[in-house]
Amino acid sequence: MKKAILVIALVACAVQSGLTAQVASPASERVMVDAIVQAIDAANPAALALLERVVNINSGTMNLAGVRAVGAAFRAEFDALGFKTEWIDGAAWNRAGHLVATHPGASPKILLIGHLDTVFEADSPFQRFERVDADRARGPGIIDMKGGNVIMLLALRALKSAGALDRMNITVVLTGDEELTGRPTTVAREALVSAAKGAVAALGFEDGDGDATHAVIARRGTTTWRLEVTGTGGHSSQVFGPDLGAGAIYEAARILNAFREKLAGEPHLTFNPGVFLGGTAVEYDAAGGRGTASGKTNIVPARTVVSGDLRALTVDQFEKTKRTMREIVAQSLPRTTAEITFDDGYPPLAPSAGNEKLLVMYDQASRDLGFGTVTAVSPDKAGAADVSFIAGVVPMIIDAIGLKGTDDHSPKETADLRTLPMQAKRAALVMLRLGK
Ligand SMILES: [Zn+2]
Repeated sequence: MKKAILVIALVACAVQSGLTAQVASPASERVMVDAIVQAIDAANPAALALLERVVNINSGTMNLAGVRAVGAAFRAEFDALGFKTEWIDGAAWNRAGHLVATHPGASPKILLIGHLDTVFEADSPFQRFERVDADRARGPGIIDMKGGNVIMLLALRALKSAGALDRMNITVVLTGDEELTGRPTTVAREALVSAAKGAVAALGFEDGDGDATHAVIARRGTTTWRLEVTGTGGHSSQVFGPDLGAGAIYEAARILNAFREKLAGEPHLTFNPGVFLGGTAVEYDAAGGRGTASGKTNIVPARTVVSGDLRALTVDQFEKTKRTMREIVAQSLPRTTAEITFDDGYPPLAPSAGNEKLLVMYDQASRDLGFGTVTAVSPDKAGAADVSFIAGVVPMIIDAIGLKGTDDHSPKETADLRTLPMQAKRAALVMLRLGK
């Protein structure tokens, strides 16, 4: 019964999406899909064992040896599948490095993206894989995203055992610093961007919002900004007077309030001051996110430093917002000066027709496998991730098709292990169809 439904769905898909020529033989694809599904079910226990093993290796981004060790564990798996593997040292961006695995083949190139690091550093109390019950396990990085890397491998192994991998052209990049990207980001992501060139599609195996009915096809980018204001110090009795003017704190407050009045509420745009230091003297340690300020109630403050973030959905929205912020900053109150600087982090993954098309394919694969529909999560709810760096390089991008669960980035990070084989089957079928 299931098989009959699958055939009908495949024909409907072919008619709907104009893929008639590519899905010329639903019957032969069905045989292949059956083989893939069986291979994934058979290899699932080994995949779970691999997941437990890699979760138990600490790979906080700054634990460079740990990131390399997780890289070595995955590298051995890709080697075993016949991939050519390479470790790219990260010294140039002060991180561990990246694993790149390539499998040349005649079919269109597909890029698979994962990361090796987690937010849990070596001194975190959260270090071990722990089985919660039959369906769930807790562990640092289990869904974000060692589970996603394992899903990638499980899908590839099944494609290999079904005889489909041989002619497939696949490049895998597992970065070592997704959670705390090395700078400059252009150097830290050079390997990813160059691996992406020529790919028709990219699949990211992040956990996303944790919901297995969701995938991500648009992500906002992030930029941090720093506002530095200089005022004229002096006795507070003369504030607003011709000699001292407004002081550095009133000026910073004016600027922030104008940001809010002019820009708050714009769709997909957020900006937030996270630290505000003002007084006669200020010291700010940006890397540590801390600082000190000293002053007196009867002295007009001479200095303010404010540090915040900015998130936007398109490059254009970033540029427009930065322009508005600079204009506001330039309208200084008397006897003050101010400057704002931006440090771009992740670029945005703007919505695109190509990404939409890949989601349609992924959703179709899911329904053909009997796993129901998959829809796009709002970009406002999707954090920044590595796929964003290849926006504009690869025509079709989808992300968050990795292991699902709850509470990533927290000591309660828990995987729904039932989603492991399901996600591997969905990914394998999409790869199979993309490879045609
Ligand atoms: Zn992640």
